Amino acid sequence: MNNETFDTLKQLLSQPKKIVIVPHQNPDGDAMGSTLALNIFLNKLGHAAAVVSPNDYPKFLKWLPQSDGVVFFDKDNSKANILINEAEMVFILDFNALHRTGDAMATVLENCKATFVMIDHHQQPDVFTDFMYSDVSICATSQMVYHFIERLDYLDKMDAAIATCLYTGIMTDTGSFKYKSTTSTTHRVVAELIDCGADNSDVHSQVYDNNSYHQLQLLGSVLKNLKVLPEYNTAYMYLTEADKDTYNFKKGDSEGFVNYCLSIENINLAAIFIEDKVQGIIKMSLRSKGDFSVNDFARNHFNGGGHINAAGGRSDVDLKATIKKFLSVLPQYKNDLNK
Ligand code: 5GP
Ligand code: MN
Repeated sequence: MNNETFDTLKQLLSQPKKIVIVPHQNPDGDAMGSTLALNIFLNKLGHAAAVVSPNDYPKFLKWLPQSDGVVFFDKDNSKANILINEAEMVFILDFNALHRTGDAMATVLENCKATFVMIDHHQQPDVFTDFMYSDVSICATSQMVYHFIERLDYLDKMDAAIATCLYTGIMTDTGSFKYKSTTSTTHRVVAELIDCGADNSDVHSQVYDNNSYHQLQLLGSVLKNLKVLPEYNTAYMYLTEADKDTYNFKKGDSEGFVNYCLSIENINLAAIFIEDKVQGIIKMSLRSKGDFSVNDFARNHFNGGGHINAAGGRSDVDLKATIKKFLSVLPQYKNDLNK
């Protein structure tokens, strides 16, 4: 987005507006961090802004500043509908295709006459918004929200609550600043956020030292079914509904499990398959190292997408058949995976 477009947006935001801010379904740390930060910022500017999320977010994010004000499209449907229908502006954050909010919410958003703004860092954005700030080179949408505020020349509005939300989003989307997408600019932004009041050590413990006993037992059971395929430099694991029942599974409990596959030596592709009886699908998380694009892999075979090294997808057949399909497509990628 060029400077002129930022100026136009600044002009639009110079009068108080009704604004709705939307993260993707099953929001993660970056989706929640970026939407909550933008919400606090826009309310500070004098707007009537609200975060409307397709559904609930995990327990390890429940402490985020102002997270208790989030309206859920699935649970608070009439309130969510009123907010969306009355909105003059809608911000789409951390996703780039309307279906990522789920079909019901996507339909309501499609019929909404507001001015749409996208701020997002995923690959291959759909073009459906009036303003599109899309940059696949930036590690987190939360870092983009920082640059957005910076380019509107409102960094003086940054406070501890906004900084804490943005810090959380950047930390979770970079695997605690370790992924390749983490740049010197990321570290400069994070340094500014700490200076503005983000308590880095506290954020780390709130997010990562928050496991229940059951969660670790669940991890143990998933690690027992981990399979390594040396010929494809691939490892995968799965989580069944039976395991979920045994260990009292809650949303977010399997966050990060797939990374254990990637931590094995010589593994370039990692996958976790999660049975989801509510949606009637197998949800997949995919991770890779190097040039192997799990965004392409998920788009080509599993109705998904994301980033080059982190993506998600889904399958409508059962767990066994999904894993069979996964194994059947690997041979065509053998050369790329062996690099
Ligand atoms: P996760 O595996 O942590 O759920 O998601 C990894 C990345 O891929 C995130 O940036 C997430 O937004 C994206 N992603 C996850 N599932 C899907 C999906 O079904 N479709 C698309 N387009 N992106 C996804
Ligand atoms: Mn993100």
